[in-house]
Amino acid sequence: MSRRIIHLDAGHGGHDPGAVANGRREKDITLEIARAAGHHLREFGADARLTRNSDVFIPVTERAQIANRAGADYLTSIHLNASPNAAGHGVEVWIRPNASRFVADTAAMMCNEISRRFGLRNRGVRHTTGFGILNTARIGAMLLEVCFIDHAGDMAIYDRNRAAIARCVAEVHATRFGLSRTSKATPNPPAASTAPNLSAPAATQTFVQWMQANGMDSSFANRARLARQHGIMNYTGTAEQNMRLWNLLRAGQGGSTPASARQFFPAPANRNLGLVDSLNAIRVDSGMAHRGRIARANGIAHYAGTAAQNTKLLNLLRQGRLARP
Ligand SMILES: [Zn+2]
Repeated sequence: MSRRIIHLDAGHGGHDPGAVANGRREKDITLEIARAAGHHLREFGADARLTRNSDVFIPVTERAQIANRAGADYLTSIHLNASPNAAGHGVEVWIRPNASRFVADTAAMMCNEISRRFGLRNRGVRHTTGFGILNTARIGAMLLEVCFIDHAGDMAIYDRNRAAIARCVAEVHATRFGLSRTSKATPNPPAASTAPNLSAPAATQTFVQWMQANGMDSSFANRARLARQHGIMNYTGTAEQNMRLWNLLRAGQGGSTPASARQFFPAPANRNLGLVDSLNAIRVDSGMAHRGRIARANGIAHYAGTAAQNTKLLNLLRQGRLARP
């Protein structure tokens, strides 16, 4: 298999410092993240490339063309945010409105993981036709705003976690492209079903902390693998998916399955089916009346079976996030 080419783009550079606040320049931090994330991606066996590896200015369209010409599999432009009154904070990822499902899921995973691991506010995936680099890229592309350079709280989080944040950026790409660590051989962690004596979670423990306390590999890659093994399709690291996975892992140890694991319909294995066929596939009443009840339980007040409504429900179902009525 040819190596995946993943282009990391350190935003700004040269005469363009990007956002500047409290003596710090966006162009320096984006380069720091891109370099470190590229290093980690190479450990995953990817052909990670940087559009710039020094303090130089490159026009945004040229950055995309560099990745296009390289036949890259993906382009992620790395930025730090700023807001007029320094009030904004958190992580967000921008994609084009017509981005592929793969790009949308990758963007969601990136946002969710950075938010969840480091406690940055999750501002979600946003759509735009206003970014030249995304408009010029002929490959999957997204623009990551890691945090706000002019927000003291965000930058304190960044400074405490800079190495881990870069590693997280790499891990999400690796997970989406099915890469596993090659050079620094990390033995495959035992599957959850063979891990002995998983503990009951402490009240304040997060899923990741619980995994670590039980000697499990809590990396995104491994959680995604466990999710697949347990029938959670399209794992992007949402809180709901983590809770389901947590419950399933503990249930596999003879524990009971808490109610929260039963709140969502299981995602159907076949992702090519429409809503009705998907519901039938998981043996759920797909009649109009029942779909209306499901719709209400998922925030659609006046379900009329429109394509848009069905698409919304189907997307939730495929993500394992369709709440039971
Ligand atoms: Zn920027």
